[in-house]
Amino acid sequence: MGDNERMTIRRLLIRGGSVLTMDGRLTAFDDGYVAVRGDTIESVGNGSPASEPGTEVIDARGCAVLPGFVNAHTHLAMTLFRGIADDVGLQDFLTKVVGEESRTLNPARIYAGATDACRESILAGTTAALDMYWFPEQAARAGRPYGVTVAAGPAFANFATPEKTSVDRKLEAAESWLSRGNGQGPQWLMPHSAYALTRDHLNALGSLAQRYGARIHVHASENEREVDTVREMHGASPIEVLADAGLLTDRTVVAHAVQLSDNDIRLLAEYGAYVAHCPWSNLKLASGIAPVRALLDAGVRVCLGTDGAVSSNSLDLWSSIRLAATLHKWRERNPAAVGAHDVLTMATRVGAQALGLDERLGSLEPGKKATMQVVELSGVHHAGVADIWSAMTYSARPGDVRDVIADGVPIVRDHRLLQDDALLRHAESTS
Ligand SMILES: [Zn+2]
Repeated sequence: MGDNERMTIRRLLIRGGSVLTMDGRLTAFDDGYVAVRGDTIESVGNGSPASEPGTEVIDARGCAVLPGFVNAHTHLAMTLFRGIADDVGLQDFLTKVVGEESRTLNPARIYAGATDACRESILAGTTAALDMYWFPEQAARAGRPYGVTVAAGPAFANFATPEKTSVDRKLEAAESWLSRGNGQGPQWLMPHSAYALTRDHLNALGSLAQRYGARIHVHASENEREVDTVREMHGASPIEVLADAGLLTDRTVVAHAVQLSDNDIRLLAEYGAYVAHCPWSNLKLASGIAPVRALLDAGVRVCLGTDGAVSSNSLDLWSSIRLAATLHKWRERNPAAVGAHDVLTMATRVGAQALGLDERLGSLEPGKKATMQVVELSGVHHAGVADIWSAMTYSARPGDVRDVIADGVPIVRDHRLLQDDALLRHAESTS
Protein backbone atom coordinates (compact mmCIF):
# COMPACT_ATOMS: atom_id res chain seq x y z
CA MET A 1 0.00 0.00 0.00
CA GLY A 2 1.17 3.55 -0.72
CA ASP A 3 2.05 6.17 1.88
CA ASN A 4 -1.15 8.07 1.26
CA GLU A 5 -3.24 5.01 1.84
CA ARG A 6 -1.35 4.16 4.99
CA MET A 7 -1.92 7.65 6.32
CA THR A 8 -5.63 7.55 5.72
CA ILE A 9 -6.30 4.28 7.54
CA ARG A 10 -7.10 5.18 11.08
CA ARG A 11 -5.71 2.99 13.83
CA LEU A 12 -7.08 3.04 17.33
CA LEU A 13 -6.00 1.13 20.39
CA ILE A 14 -8.21 1.02 23.44
CA ARG A 15 -6.18 -0.48 26.25
CA GLY A 16 -5.95 -0.95 29.98
CA GLY A 17 -9.65 -1.56 30.64
CA SER A 18 -11.80 -4.52 31.59
CA VAL A 19 -13.08 -5.73 28.24
CA LEU A 20 -16.42 -7.56 28.15
CA THR A 21 -16.46 -8.90 24.60
CA MET A 22 -20.07 -10.19 24.83
CA ASP A 23 -19.10 -12.98 22.42
CA GLY A 24 -20.92 -16.32 22.60
CA ARG A 25 -18.78 -17.47 25.51
CA LEU A 26 -18.93 -14.12 27.33
CA THR A 27 -15.15 -13.85 27.16
CA ALA A 28 -13.78 -11.06 29.34
CA PHE A 29 -10.25 -9.64 29.66
CA ASP A 30 -9.36 -8.00 32.97
CA ASP A 31 -6.50 -5.94 31.56
CA GLY A 32 -7.74 -5.95 28.03
CA TYR A 33 -7.33 -4.14 24.74
CA VAL A 34 -9.24 -3.67 21.51
CA ALA A 35 -7.14 -2.91 18.41
CA VAL A 36 -8.97 -1.17 15.58
CA ARG A 37 -7.96 -0.71 11.96
CA GLY A 38 -10.21 1.58 9.97
CA ASP A 39 -13.77 0.78 10.95
CA THR A 40 -13.05 -2.81 12.00
CA ILE A 41 -11.83 -4.62 15.10
CA GLU A 42 -8.49 -6.25 14.33
CA SER A 43 -7.86 -8.02 17.62
CA VAL A 44 -9.05 -8.21 21.20
CA GLY A 45 -7.21 -9.70 24.14
CA ASN A 46 -5.23 -9.27 27.33
CA GLY A 47 -2.37 -6.83 27.74
CA SER A 48 -1.41 -4.55 24.90
CA PRO A 49 -0.10 -5.35 21.42
CA ALA A 50 2.71 -3.33 19.87
CA SER A 51 1.05 -0.43 18.09
CA GLU A 52 2.08 1.10 14.79
CA PRO A 53 3.23 4.70 14.75
CA GLY A 54 0.28 7.05 14.40
CA THR A 55 -2.05 4.83 16.37
CA GLU A 56 -4.45 6.82 18.50
CA VAL A 57 -4.43 5.31 21.98
CA ILE A 58 -7.41 5.52 24.31
CA ASP A 59 -6.41 4.81 27.88
CA ALA A 60 -9.21 2.78 29.44
CA ARG A 61 -7.63 2.15 32.83
CA GLY A 62 -10.31 2.19 35.51
CA CYS A 63 -12.96 1.61 32.86
CA ALA A 64 -14.99 -1.17 31.31
CA VAL A 65 -15.04 -1.57 27.54
CA LEU A 66 -18.09 -3.18 26.01
CA PRO A 67 -20.05 -3.14 22.75
CA GLY A 68 -22.41 -0.28 22.13
CA PHE A 69 -25.91 -1.12 23.33
CA VAL A 70 -28.74 -2.01 20.97
CA ASN A 71 -32.10 -0.46 21.82
CA ALA A 72 -34.40 -3.08 20.29
CA HIS A 73 -37.65 -1.13 20.60
CA THR A 74 -38.11 2.60 20.50
CA HIS A 75 -39.84 5.52 18.82
CA LEU A 76 -36.97 7.99 18.73
CA ALA A 77 -38.80 11.16 17.72
CA MET A 78 -41.19 10.82 20.65
CA THR A 79 -38.62 12.85 22.60
CA LEU A 80 -40.79 15.69 21.22
CA PHE A 81 -43.59 14.65 23.55
CA ARG A 82 -41.69 13.62 26.67
CA GLY A 83 -43.97 14.01 29.67
CA ILE A 84 -47.28 14.53 27.84
CA ALA A 85 -48.88 11.27 28.97
CA ASP A 86 -47.55 10.23 32.37
CA ASP A 87 -49.55 8.22 34.89
CA VAL A 88 -52.05 6.73 32.43
CA GLY A 89 -52.54 3.24 30.97
CA LEU A 90 -51.77 2.15 27.42
CA GLN A 91 -55.15 2.97 25.87
CA ASP A 92 -55.34 6.53 27.29
CA PHE A 93 -51.68 6.95 26.40
CA LEU A 94 -52.38 6.04 22.77
CA THR A 95 -55.36 8.38 22.53
CA LYS A 96 -53.27 11.29 23.76
CA VAL A 97 -50.15 10.53 21.74
CA VAL A 98 -51.83 9.64 18.45
CA GLY A 99 -53.75 12.93 18.54
CA GLU A 100 -50.62 14.99 19.19
CA GLU A 101 -48.69 13.18 16.49
CA SER A 102 -51.23 13.62 13.74
CA ARG A 103 -51.78 17.30 14.66
CA THR A 104 -48.19 18.44 15.05
CA LEU A 105 -45.73 16.25 13.20
CA ASN A 106 -44.06 16.65 9.83
CA PRO A 107 -40.78 15.22 8.52
CA ALA A 108 -38.68 18.15 9.76
CA ARG A 109 -40.02 17.90 13.31
CA ILE A 110 -39.50 14.16 13.31
CA TYR A 111 -35.91 14.66 12.19
CA ALA A 112 -35.38 17.16 15.02
CA GLY A 113 -36.90 14.85 17.63
CA ALA A 114 -34.93 11.87 16.40
CA THR A 115 -31.76 13.97 16.47
CA ASP A 116 -32.30 14.74 20.15
CA ALA A 117 -32.96 11.05 20.73
CA CYS A 118 -29.75 10.03 18.97
CA ARG A 119 -27.73 12.49 21.03
CA GLU A 120 -29.29 11.16 24.21
CA SER A 121 -28.69 7.59 23.07
CA ILE A 122 -25.07 7.88 22.02
CA LEU A 123 -24.09 9.78 25.18
CA ALA A 124 -25.46 6.80 27.12
CA GLY A 125 -23.61 4.21 25.03
CA THR A 126 -26.42 3.13 22.70
CA THR A 127 -25.16 2.76 19.14
CA ALA A 128 -28.09 1.05 17.42
CA ALA A 129 -31.86 1.34 17.66
CA LEU A 130 -34.87 -0.37 16.17
CA ASP A 131 -37.22 2.53 15.53
CA MET A 132 -40.92 2.32 14.67
CA TYR A 133 -42.18 5.69 13.54
CA TRP A 134 -43.67 7.84 10.80
CA PHE A 135 -41.50 9.09 7.91
CA PRO A 136 -38.91 6.44 8.89
CA GLU A 137 -36.15 7.83 6.67
CA GLN A 138 -35.92 10.82 9.05
CA ALA A 139 -34.78 8.76 12.03
CA ALA A 140 -32.31 6.82 9.92
CA ARG A 141 -30.88 10.12 8.67
CA ALA A 142 -30.78 11.58 12.20
CA GLY A 143 -28.70 8.66 13.46
CA ARG A 144 -25.88 8.97 10.96
CA PRO A 145 -24.04 12.04 12.33
CA TYR A 146 -24.04 10.47 15.77
CA GLY A 147 -22.89 7.00 14.81
CA VAL A 148 -26.27 5.53 15.76
CA THR A 149 -27.42 2.79 13.40
CA VAL A 150 -31.18 3.26 13.16
CA ALA A 151 -33.11 0.31 11.75
CA ALA A 152 -36.38 1.70 10.44
CA GLY A 153 -39.07 0.99 7.90
CA PRO A 154 -42.64 1.88 7.05
CA ALA A 155 -45.09 1.58 9.98
CA PHE A 156 -48.72 0.60 9.38
CA ALA A 157 -51.77 1.51 11.46
CA ASN A 158 -55.43 2.28 10.84
CA PHE A 159 -55.45 5.32 13.12
CA ALA A 160 -54.66 8.89 12.07
CA THR A 161 -50.96 9.41 11.49
CA PRO A 162 -48.86 12.39 10.40
CA GLU A 163 -48.24 10.64 7.07
CA LYS A 164 -51.92 11.19 6.23
CA THR A 165 -52.14 8.22 3.90
CA SER A 166 -54.06 4.96 3.92
CA VAL A 167 -52.68 1.55 4.81
CA ASP A 168 -53.48 0.40 1.26
CA ARG A 169 -51.42 3.17 -0.30
CA LYS A 170 -48.58 2.51 2.11
CA LEU A 171 -48.64 -1.17 1.22
CA GLU A 172 -48.19 -0.27 -2.45
CA ALA A 173 -45.34 2.10 -1.65
CA ALA A 174 -43.71 -0.51 0.59
CA GLU A 175 -43.82 -3.11 -2.15
CA SER A 176 -42.06 -0.82 -4.57
CA TRP A 177 -39.49 0.11 -1.93
CA LEU A 178 -38.84 -3.55 -1.06
CA SER A 179 -38.53 -4.54 -4.70
CA ARG A 180 -35.81 -1.93 -5.26
CA GLY A 181 -33.80 -3.06 -2.22
CA ASN A 182 -31.97 -0.34 -0.34
CA GLY A 183 -28.49 -1.85 -0.34
CA GLN A 184 -27.97 -0.73 3.26
CA GLY A 185 -28.79 -3.78 5.31
CA PRO A 186 -32.09 -5.38 6.23
CA GLN A 187 -35.39 -3.85 5.16
CA TRP A 188 -38.19 -3.65 7.71
CA LEU A 189 -41.97 -3.70 7.71
CA MET A 190 -43.61 -2.46 10.89
CA PRO A 191 -47.25 -3.35 11.43
CA HIS A 192 -48.07 -1.28 14.54
CA SER A 193 -50.07 -4.08 16.18
CA ALA A 194 -52.86 -6.59 15.60
CA TYR A 195 -55.38 -4.16 17.16
CA ALA A 196 -54.48 -1.32 14.79
CA LEU A 197 -54.88 -3.32 11.57
CA THR A 198 -57.51 -5.43 9.85
CA ARG A 199 -56.97 -9.09 9.22
CA ASP A 200 -56.60 -8.38 5.48
CA HIS A 201 -53.90 -5.81 6.13
CA LEU A 202 -52.05 -8.13 8.50
CA ASN A 203 -52.18 -10.89 5.90
CA ALA A 204 -50.97 -8.54 3.18
CA LEU A 205 -48.03 -7.47 5.33
CA GLY A 206 -47.22 -11.09 6.15
CA SER A 207 -47.07 -12.08 2.51
CA LEU A 208 -45.10 -8.96 1.57
CA ALA A 209 -42.54 -9.72 4.27
CA GLN A 210 -42.28 -13.29 3.08
CA ARG A 211 -41.88 -12.36 -0.60
CA TYR A 212 -39.02 -9.95 0.08
CA GLY A 213 -37.48 -11.50 3.20
CA ALA A 214 -38.23 -8.31 5.11
CA ARG A 215 -37.74 -8.14 8.85
CA ILE A 216 -40.81 -7.36 10.93
CA HIS A 217 -41.27 -5.18 13.98
CA VAL A 218 -44.60 -5.17 15.79
CA HIS A 219 -46.14 -4.43 19.21
CA ALA A 220 -48.00 -7.36 20.75
CA SER A 221 -49.55 -8.52 24.01
CA GLU A 222 -48.63 -5.38 25.87
CA ASN A 223 -51.45 -5.54 28.41
CA GLU A 224 -54.58 -7.55 29.24
CA ARG A 225 -56.96 -5.09 27.64
CA GLU A 226 -55.06 -5.29 24.36
CA VAL A 227 -55.27 -9.09 24.40
CA ASP A 228 -59.05 -8.86 25.00
CA THR A 229 -59.46 -6.32 22.19
CA VAL A 230 -57.53 -8.48 19.75
CA ARG A 231 -59.60 -11.54 20.74
CA GLU A 232 -62.78 -9.59 20.03
CA MET A 233 -61.45 -8.26 16.71
CA HIS A 234 -59.66 -11.32 15.38
CA GLY A 235 -60.78 -14.26 17.52
CA ALA A 236 -57.32 -15.19 18.77
CA SER A 237 -54.46 -13.86 20.89
CA PRO A 238 -52.16 -11.21 19.36
CA ILE A 239 -49.32 -13.73 19.00
CA GLU A 240 -51.65 -16.30 17.38
CA VAL A 241 -52.94 -13.63 14.99
CA LEU A 242 -49.39 -12.68 13.99
CA ALA A 243 -48.55 -16.35 13.43
CA ASP A 244 -51.66 -16.85 11.26
CA ALA A 245 -50.86 -13.77 9.20
CA GLY A 246 -47.30 -14.91 8.46
CA LEU A 247 -45.88 -12.14 10.63
CA LEU A 248 -44.27 -14.37 13.24
CA THR A 249 -40.91 -15.39 11.78
CA ASP A 250 -37.27 -15.69 12.77
CA ARG A 251 -36.92 -12.14 11.40
CA THR A 252 -39.65 -10.74 13.66
CA VAL A 253 -39.06 -8.58 16.72
CA VAL A 254 -42.13 -8.49 18.97
CA ALA A 255 -42.15 -5.54 21.35
CA HIS A 256 -43.46 -6.11 24.90
CA ALA A 257 -44.93 -9.65 24.94
CA VAL A 258 -46.12 -9.10 28.50
CA GLN A 259 -49.44 -10.96 28.57
CA LEU A 260 -48.67 -14.34 27.06
CA SER A 261 -50.39 -17.72 27.23
CA ASP A 262 -48.35 -20.93 27.25
CA ASN A 263 -49.34 -21.34 23.63
CA ASP A 264 -48.06 -17.83 22.80
CA ILE A 265 -44.69 -18.67 24.34
CA ARG A 266 -44.60 -21.93 22.40
CA LEU A 267 -45.35 -20.08 19.15
CA LEU A 268 -42.69 -17.42 19.75
CA ALA A 269 -40.14 -20.19 20.32
CA GLU A 270 -41.31 -22.35 17.42
CA TYR A 271 -41.14 -19.50 14.89
CA GLY A 272 -37.82 -18.24 16.28
CA ALA A 273 -39.11 -14.71 16.89
CA TYR A 274 -37.37 -12.17 19.09
CA VAL A 275 -38.98 -10.44 22.03
CA ALA A 276 -37.94 -6.86 22.81
CA HIS A 277 -38.45 -6.62 26.55
CA CYS A 278 -39.30 -3.05 27.63
CA PRO A 279 -39.48 -3.17 31.43
CA TRP A 280 -39.69 0.59 32.10
CA SER A 281 -42.54 1.16 29.73
CA ASN A 282 -44.39 -1.93 30.96
CA LEU A 283 -44.19 -0.82 34.58
CA LYS A 284 -44.98 2.83 33.93
CA LEU A 285 -48.09 2.02 31.90
CA ALA A 286 -49.04 -0.62 34.50
CA SER A 287 -49.01 -3.22 31.71
CA GLY A 288 -47.32 -5.96 33.70
CA ILE A 289 -44.04 -7.85 33.84
CA ALA A 290 -43.17 -9.97 30.80
CA PRO A 291 -42.48 -13.65 31.54
CA VAL A 292 -38.85 -13.32 30.50
CA ARG A 293 -37.57 -16.35 32.40
CA ALA A 294 -40.19 -18.57 30.77
CA LEU A 295 -39.36 -17.09 27.36
CA LEU A 296 -35.65 -17.78 27.83
CA ASP A 297 -36.37 -21.31 29.05
CA ALA A 298 -38.48 -21.92 25.94
CA GLY A 299 -35.55 -20.78 23.77
CA VAL A 300 -36.98 -17.39 22.75
CA ARG A 301 -34.34 -14.78 22.01
CA VAL A 302 -34.97 -11.80 24.28
CA CYS A 303 -33.47 -8.38 23.67
CA LEU A 304 -34.02 -5.08 25.45
CA GLY A 305 -35.75 -1.82 24.54
CA THR A 306 -36.61 1.46 26.16
CA ASP A 307 -39.76 2.11 24.13
CA GLY A 308 -40.33 5.79 23.29
CA ALA A 309 -39.58 8.74 25.55
CA VAL A 310 -43.26 9.22 26.37
CA SER A 311 -43.75 5.74 27.81
CA SER A 312 -40.42 5.44 29.64
CA ASN A 313 -39.30 9.10 29.56
CA SER A 314 -35.69 8.13 28.93
CA LEU A 315 -33.78 6.34 26.19
CA ASP A 316 -31.28 5.14 28.74
CA LEU A 317 -30.71 1.39 28.41
CA TRP A 318 -28.73 1.29 31.64
CA SER A 319 -31.87 1.68 33.72
CA SER A 320 -33.62 -0.95 31.57
CA ILE A 321 -30.70 -3.29 32.22
CA ARG A 322 -30.91 -2.76 35.96
CA LEU A 323 -34.65 -3.18 35.98
CA ALA A 324 -34.59 -6.30 33.78
CA ALA A 325 -32.01 -7.88 36.07
CA THR A 326 -34.17 -7.12 39.09
CA LEU A 327 -37.85 -7.53 38.16
CA HIS A 328 -37.74 -11.18 37.25
CA LYS A 329 -36.23 -12.12 40.59
CA TRP A 330 -39.50 -10.97 42.13
CA ARG A 331 -41.75 -12.27 39.37
CA GLU A 332 -40.24 -15.76 39.73
CA ARG A 333 -39.65 -15.49 43.49
CA ASN A 334 -36.10 -16.50 42.63
CA PRO A 335 -33.12 -14.13 42.99
CA ALA A 336 -31.25 -16.08 40.32
CA ALA A 337 -34.06 -15.92 37.74
CA VAL A 338 -32.43 -13.36 35.43
CA GLY A 339 -29.02 -11.87 36.15
CA ALA A 340 -26.17 -9.76 34.86
CA HIS A 341 -25.00 -12.09 32.09
CA ASP A 342 -28.53 -12.48 30.77
CA VAL A 343 -29.37 -8.79 30.59
CA LEU A 344 -26.05 -7.58 29.21
CA THR A 345 -26.38 -10.22 26.49
CA MET A 346 -29.89 -8.92 25.72
CA ALA A 347 -28.60 -5.35 25.44
CA THR A 348 -25.74 -6.28 23.10
CA ARG A 349 -25.41 -9.54 21.19
CA VAL A 350 -29.05 -10.59 21.02
CA GLY A 351 -30.09 -7.04 20.20
CA ALA A 352 -27.73 -7.04 17.22
CA GLN A 353 -29.15 -10.39 16.08
CA ALA A 354 -32.66 -9.04 16.37
CA LEU A 355 -31.72 -6.15 14.08
CA GLY A 356 -30.12 -8.57 11.60
CA LEU A 357 -26.81 -6.80 12.20
CA ASP A 358 -24.89 -9.39 14.21
CA GLU A 359 -22.21 -9.72 11.56
CA ARG A 360 -21.33 -6.07 12.27
CA LEU A 361 -22.43 -5.31 15.81
CA GLY A 362 -23.22 -6.74 19.23
CA SER A 363 -19.84 -8.08 20.38
CA LEU A 364 -16.19 -7.13 20.36
CA GLU A 365 -14.65 -9.73 18.06
CA PRO A 366 -12.11 -9.49 15.23
CA GLY A 367 -13.82 -8.66 11.95
CA LYS A 368 -16.79 -6.87 13.50
CA LYS A 369 -17.23 -3.11 13.32
CA ALA A 370 -15.37 -1.19 15.98
CA THR A 371 -18.45 0.02 17.81
CA MET A 372 -18.00 0.18 21.56
CA GLN A 373 -18.27 2.21 24.74
CA VAL A 374 -15.73 2.96 27.44
CA VAL A 375 -17.47 3.16 30.80
CA GLU A 376 -15.84 4.81 33.81
CA LEU A 377 -15.81 3.03 37.14
CA SER A 378 -14.38 5.98 39.05
CA GLY A 379 -17.70 7.34 40.32
CA VAL A 380 -18.32 7.03 44.03
CA HIS A 381 -21.36 4.89 43.21
CA HIS A 382 -18.91 2.21 42.01
CA ALA A 383 -16.69 2.37 45.10
CA GLY A 384 -15.70 -1.07 46.34
CA VAL A 385 -17.14 -2.88 43.35
CA ALA A 386 -15.96 -6.48 43.25
CA ASP A 387 -17.17 -7.60 39.85
CA ILE A 388 -17.34 -5.86 36.50
CA TRP A 389 -20.53 -7.63 35.37
CA SER A 390 -22.19 -6.57 38.59
CA ALA A 391 -21.04 -2.97 38.14
CA MET A 392 -22.35 -2.81 34.57
CA THR A 393 -25.71 -4.27 35.58
CA TYR A 394 -26.55 -2.96 39.01
CA SER A 395 -24.65 0.28 39.57
CA ALA A 396 -23.68 1.86 36.23
CA ARG A 397 -25.43 5.00 34.95
CA PRO A 398 -25.55 6.73 31.58
CA GLY A 399 -23.19 9.42 32.92
CA ASP A 400 -20.48 6.79 33.37
CA VAL A 401 -20.14 6.45 29.59
CA ARG A 402 -16.90 8.32 28.88
CA ASP A 403 -16.15 7.46 25.25
CA VAL A 404 -18.15 5.97 22.41
CA ILE A 405 -16.65 4.76 19.17
CA ALA A 406 -18.86 3.89 16.20
CA ASP A 407 -17.41 2.12 13.15
CA GLY A 408 -13.92 3.07 14.34
CA VAL A 409 -14.78 6.78 14.71
CA PRO A 410 -14.76 8.36 18.17
CA ILE A 411 -18.14 10.08 18.57
CA VAL A 412 -18.10 10.77 22.30
CA ARG A 413 -14.87 11.60 24.14
CA ASP A 414 -14.68 12.44 27.79
CA HIS A 415 -18.49 12.51 28.06
CA ARG A 416 -18.91 15.04 25.24
CA LEU A 417 -20.07 14.77 21.70
CA LEU A 418 -17.20 15.66 19.42
CA GLN A 419 -17.32 18.74 17.23
CA ASP A 420 -20.13 18.79 14.76
CA ASP A 421 -17.80 19.04 11.76
CA ALA A 422 -16.20 15.75 12.75
CA LEU A 423 -19.64 14.26 13.14
CA LEU A 424 -20.71 15.51 9.75
CA ARG A 425 -17.65 13.97 8.14
CA HIS A 426 -18.64 10.70 9.74
CA ALA A 427 -22.15 11.13 8.35
CA GLU A 428 -20.82 11.72 4.85
CA SER A 429 -18.50 8.73 5.00
CA THR A 430 -21.27 6.39 6.08
CA SER A 431 -24.17 7.70 4.02
ZN1 LIG B 1 -43.63 1.02 21.38
